[in-house]
Amino acid sequence: MHRLQDSRRNPGKAIRRLNAQSRSPGRYIGRFAPSPTGPLHLGSLVAALASYLDARAAGGCWLLRMEDLDPPREPAGAADTILGQLDELGLHWDGPVLYQSTRLEAYAAILEQLWHAGFCFACDCSRTHVRTMGSVYDGHCRERKLPAGGDSAIRLRTRPGVFGIDDRIQGRFEQELESAVGDFVVRRRDGLFAYQLAVVADDAMQHVNQVVRGADLLDSTPRQLYLQALLGYPEPRYAHFPVLLNARDQKLSKQHFAAPVDSSAPEPLLRLALEYLQLSPPAELAGPWEVLDWAVNNWDILRIPARHGISARRHS
Ligand code: GLU
Ligand code: ZN
Repeated sequence: MHRLQDSRRNPGKAIRRLNAQSRSPGRYIGRFAPSPTGPLHLGSLVAALASYLDARAAGGCWLLRMEDLDPPREPAGAADTILGQLDELGLHWDGPVLYQSTRLEAYAAILEQLWHAGFCFACDCSRTHVRTMGSVYDGHCRERKLPAGGDSAIRLRTRPGVFGIDDRIQGRFEQELESAVGDFVVRRRDGLFAYQLAVVADDAMQHVNQVVRGADLLDSTPRQLYLQALLGYPEPRYAHFPVLLNARDQKLSKQHFAAPVDSSAPEPLLRLALEYLQLSPPAELAGPWEVLDWAVNNWDILRIPARHGISARRHS
């Protein structure tokens, strides 16, 4: 129980402990990295729980990172709402929250490094033109030598070769990046840094060595491995759990109007979310903290099915 509480009661102690832990290479360091596009819904709660349980069951750290890189999509107060919901549910993180909006200079420096090493090029293809290419960029601007800046995106040049992981849930996953994705955007036309760049920069900076997240991001992983290789960063281990799908087989998301969870009733909510992680806490457990503690002690990632999606019957 004290484990769930001390980062709140004594943040200084938690931060010192965290720093000590990040220096020891073998220590599990995981994270939950929500985009604050709205309050947590059942799908994002499952993501929070899966990463939390895996970290706590391993005696590891669980960091919280707000991926607030796209202000137009982030309603005011959404980040605080998410923090409040996690807190009400007893999902207490270690150390201070990292806001990606405070990391823009670091991303710019990394981009500069990639640009000077010749891995990037500017691309002024219109949205419509890119759409006509389908899901793989056709290399149109690769050799055009456009200057960076202005109204151009910056893309990372891919090269032939397979990037793959041994996912703890999905098993082997591989992608031939150049033919499956093509040169991809690391800074958007509107000047915003792309998720792929920021996530790699921050996982490395925070010494994250275990990533547990939804299988909708499996497809992004080879791009991240490529960036890690170019930048000389270590590769974390990955586990991609099946995401919750609504009645139309779409991932539960703000975009598809998933309802916010009601964290003022933590116990039924935790029990519901745990079902999707193959955990059924005994009925006689009393209260959310007992349920959460039981879940940490009974977490078994090998019971999660190697599927990309699972239907959320009761909520969408
Ligand atoms: N911010 C991403 C999302 O909410 C998750 C990023 C990650 O876990 O790598 O979908
Ligand atoms: Zn282009």
